[in-house]
Amino acid sequence: MTSRYTEHPLEAARALLEYIRLIIGERVFLPATRSIMTSVDQSPAHEHIEISSSPTMQEQSHKIQLVLPRHFFPSDCIFDKQNDYHTAQSLEELYDRIHTCDKCPLGATRTNFVFGAGSATADIVLIGEAPGADEDRQGEPFVGRAGQLLTKILSSIGLERSDVFICNVLKCRPPNNRTPEPSEIEQCKPYLYKQLELIGAPFHVALGLTAAETLLGRKLKMSSVRGKWFDFYGARLIVTYHPAALLRNPELKRDVWEDVKKLRQAYDEYLRSGTLPEPNELT
Ligand code: SF4
Repeated sequence: MTSRYTEHPLEAARALLEYIRLIIGERVFLPATRSIMTSVDQSPAHEHIEISSSPTMQEQSHKIQLVLPRHFFPSDCIFDKQNDYHTAQSLEELYDRIHTCDKCPLGATRTNFVFGAGSATADIVLIGEAPGADEDRQGEPFVGRAGQLLTKILSSIGLERSDVFICNVLKCRPPNNRTPEPSEIEQCKPYLYKQLELIGAPFHVALGLTAAETLLGRKLKMSSVRGKWFDFYGARLIVTYHPAALLRNPELKRDVWEDVKKLRQAYDEYLRSGTLPEPNELT
């Protein structure tokens, strides 16, 4: 896992341009990261070195043991392999056991099962609601317009998609992108919990209310939880808007920028000192 986040003024200027692009769209020219890096030190020896004033994620990151209640992993499935999903020792093993799932009706209507993508040892996991049409077609999470915006949001805080893990509450697309039914969430969320347990990331980002309510286990109002840190079984979780909401209402980009800046700051502090942000009470 690599980071090109740096506190150098040139990188700060690039982050500002990324932010402006996020707010107003595509019309801002962004210099390539490489040209910023090489302008910091023109010597050929540094051409391929990513300069960062903070410690690299790989050097500093360590897993969190999420303390998830065992009743989160019911074994009520009629298929033996799926029944055993909770004993999987890796994401690959988990995928192998659940990718043919048809526990809920969405199994019959999907084109592809969308497990999730990214680093199996990520320190940051982003969780959306459910695959859309593009994701269903390609079997990858967040590959449509909302996904492209998510990539830009990550880039604005110096993260690549390969630095994090991205997944959804549901692994199969609800027809016409309708909101997931509570029964579908109920049946699919043990898979999500197992993914999160295996990854053991210190930071989780709920993209939208469906993810937030699933992970925090109660009905919520976006206005009362957005941008706040919550305890998530020993790790930390922050709630922000789903990128699809930003496509519908670009005004929300400012709030998301504030939220991801907060995530970046907390993550840098974690890399420096190993401490997590103080959680808020969930009222
Ligand atoms: S949405 Fe989840 S529970 Fe339903 S069929 Fe797909 S993987 Fe299984």
